Amino acid sequence: MADPVPSAMSEPVLTSEITCPRCGAHRTETMPTDACLYFYECTACGAMLKPKKGDCCVFCSYGSVPCPPIQAAGGRGAADDTCCR
Ligand SMILES: [Zn+2]
Repeated sequence: MADPVPSAMSEPVLTSEITCPRCGAHRTETMPTDACLYFYECTACGAMLKPKKGDCCVFCSYGSVPCPPIQAAGGRGAADDTCCR
């Protein structure tokens, strides 16, 4: 486990590995806790990623870890309107 927050159980994970749907590149990014990242440009192929329908940010759609508000709500799909709206 490469947990960036080793001691606090309730702390959300703040890094997420984004997988580009176009070229398949992986890149670990740090997620902001006070805002969602709606656009993300793939550093490998330059594709501009946007969230899938129903997702609030690119981390929820393409990341290995959903964004902090979704984590706090109990996981992907557990909350409809808690994040960024
Ligand atoms: Zn890409």
